[in-house]
Amino acid sequence: GGEAIGLLRSEFLFLHRATAPSEREQETVYADIVRVLGRDRRVVIRALDVGGDKPLPYLPIPREDNPFLGERGIRVLLDHPDLFRTQLRAILRASRGGFVSIMFPMIATMGEWRAARAILEEERERMGTPRIEAGIMVEVASAAVLADQFAKEVDFFSIGTNDLTQYTLAMDRGHPRLAPQVDGLSPAVLRLIDQTVRAAKAYGRWTGVCGGIAGDPQAVPLLVGLGVDELSVSVPVIRAVKAQVRRLRLAECRTLAAAA
Ligand code: PEP
Ligand code: MG
Repeated sequence: GGEAIGLLRSEFLFLHRATAPSEREQETVYADIVRVLGRDRRVVIRALDVGGDKPLPYLPIPREDNPFLGERGIRVLLDHPDLFRTQLRAILRASRGGFVSIMFPMIATMGEWRAARAILEEERERMGTPRIEAGIMVEVASAAVLADQFAKEVDFFSIGTNDLTQYTLAMDRGHPRLAPQVDGLSPAVLRLIDQTVRAAKAYGRWTGVCGGIAGDPQAVPLLVGLGVDELSVSVPVIRAVKAQVRRLRLAECRTLAAAA
């Protein structure tokens, strides 16, 4: 019953191996997924999101005191252009067979987004493939704060509430003792989601939520009320979330969201 893939975590292709997957190998995997979905169902492929907390043996990153605040996501990709360009070419080639969008992880500044998009466009022009939608993960508070600026340039936002919550509240998302307080429904996080959705709508962009709360029955009415266009959830809860959404009333969700 899934209508699309809102977050394809491409790092699974790269983890637990001694060398990076080749362009060919990546293309085969992406193309297989695209083929299964067909032309009408979108897959949003997230560019490689690794770094301090998800190390790769073939991509040495010096030990960091605060890996979550260090070389992660887009920072790693921009530092390793060969790795980045290889992945982009594989995605672009696979995109010919279906409906593919790409998004960049851990974007904190306009400069990072523009640099990533420029590299994507360079590879695309060189290959002569059609344009694909490019968006950003909103998972660093600065991206949500500047959503009105990003919205002028990106095709879509995908809100990564797992990281957005940890960076907004300054609480490690995996901390065993802080776990009860690392709450994606905290008013501060909800306000950032609201701001992001409003900015997107003002420029005709869509906003998805791909963090864990998208599949949380307590969060779903709030996200709908905030105007989120798409929920990306883990496979086992797709049907439950769809059933829940179909029973909701938009006006009530909006009231609830405003109160929260
Ligand atoms: C997130 O941060 O919410 C997200 C979807 O990305 P990941 O959980 O892979 O960091
Ligand atoms: Mg994240």
